[in-house]
Amino acid sequence: MNLNAGEISSLIKEQIKGFEGQLEDDDVGTVISVGDGIALIYGLRDAMLGELLLFPGDVYGMVMNLNAEDVGAVLLGSELSIKEGDTVKRTNRVVEVPVGDGLLGRVVSPLGLPIDGLGPISYSKTRPIERIAPGVMKRKSVDTPLETGLKAIDSIIPIGRGQRELIIGDRQTGKTSIAVDTIVNQRGKGVNCVYVAIGQKNSSVASLVAKLKEKGCFDYVVVVNASASKSAPQQYIAPFAGMAMAEEWMEKGQDVLIAFDDLSKHAVAYRALSLLLRRSPGREAYPGDIFYLHSRLLERACKLAPEYGGGSITALPIIETQAGDISAYIPTNVISITDGQIFLVTDYFTAGQRPAVDSGFSVSRVGSAAQTKAMKQVAGSLKIELANYRENLSFSQFGSDLDVETKKILTHGAVVTEALKQKNFAPLPMEEEELELYAVKGRFLDDLPLEQVGPFLEGLVSYLKDSDRDLVEKLKKDKQFDDDMSKKLDEAIATYKEIRK
Ligand code: ATP
Ligand code: MG
Repeated sequence: MNLNAGEISSLIKEQIKGFEGQLEDDDVGTVISVGDGIALIYGLRDAMLGELLLFPGDVYGMVMNLNAEDVGAVLLGSELSIKEGDTVKRTNRVVEVPVGDGLLGRVVSPLGLPIDGLGPISYSKTRPIERIAPGVMKRKSVDTPLETGLKAIDSIIPIGRGQRELIIGDRQTGKTSIAVDTIVNQRGKGVNCVYVAIGQKNSSVASLVAKLKEKGCFDYVVVVNASASKSAPQQYIAPFAGMAMAEEWMEKGQDVLIAFDDLSKHAVAYRALSLLLRRSPGREAYPGDIFYLHSRLLERACKLAPEYGGGSITALPIIETQAGDISAYIPTNVISITDGQIFLVTDYFTAGQRPAVDSGFSVSRVGSAAQTKAMKQVAGSLKIELANYRENLSFSQFGSDLDVETKKILTHGAVVTEALKQKNFAPLPMEEEELELYAVKGRFLDDLPLEQVGPFLEGLVSYLKDSDRDLVEKLKKDKQFDDDMSKKLDEAIATYKEIRK
């Protein structure tokens, strides 16, 4: 058979076209390299950012880098089954987690898979873990209190539903305890809780879950656990997964509380995977978009306007500081993203003042709009009294002859400090906090020895609940002290003081 040059070239061209056609399967790629939980993939030209990829051995990965030549993905499972040259498939889905009431009372992985041995989770819906936060028009300002049950917080740094309040402090200063007490205090209040553990020990998470179960507080809680033993990518997606679960309830008009324990470890996980993805490092070697990472997460916590169901997500991110340095990179970032911070101090904690809240550095920028009138009436002057007390305390160490006014400030300050102490796992109902602080404000305790303050307040509340049931109920209902009530209360407290003697 004789073929001329033209025919040969057209045949070859046709063959090449066919070959290209075979190659152009954009849904499949090839692993170029894999290691440290990161895979580089050739192909997948249409892959989306955040898309879920399927690797051999049913391991999932998430697209993080879209480069000109390749795609960088983080692995959400073990990399042991993956090697160079393996085929990777697109799933056409971004990372999603199951949502809904089936999650309540469960411990799940960042992908929403059960890890508590209680069998599969029943769900009928999934949600993408990343979503654009509701816009300004969809929101409403904070107007309902989120009661923590902790006197030191509800009085001075009140939190409203839909607020983002940072809990910040060194290690072992009671940060987790504040978040957990707040969760315990939501029992019977219709607030679903999401606790996201990032980089924690599995044993601490297990004992926390056991404690919540023991208190009968686990049936409205879901724990998302990305423990320290999990890979950086899993720790990275955990808070976003928790937020997606919370959003489902918020959009149904429910109130949700979400705690991120803690975002310092989250930042470290993100830094690790960013460096492995060869993104350029910035300050403290964190990637440049670390602020955006936390802001797009926390911005999703809000209170929705009534026409959008009126639900809310209150976020309690936790940040661990080094030697109380709140001006480090990650702490300043998260401080500026949130609506205030609860600053915990090691010195107070070791001195036995727990919760170790520093009332001077702690603020709540929006929460007072949601504080009850009664609490405002009794707690309005607390912050200034404490500041005064701390200032005079340092003076009083110099000399013994203090004037009467200073002595008064010191005695009252010491009583206030003592009254704000509270054990963990013992949150108080709002009206009991208000009654205790009423007695403190009325200076009924200033002549007591300090170690009597706690027992006196405890005894007083149970005495009032016995002798003046109606008054306590009225306070609970009206949420304010009127003149008549104040008069009765003053008498009752005086009587109780007599009885105690
Ligand atoms: P870490 O930095 O390890 O995460 P943390 O700041 O989260 O620590 P917690 O774990 O909450 O601190 O508390 C440390 C210890 O202090 C715990 O053993 C806890 O029981 C105890 N603790 C916390 N709050 C109180 C409190 N109000 N009264 C008594 N003990 C408390
Ligand atoms: Mg902790």
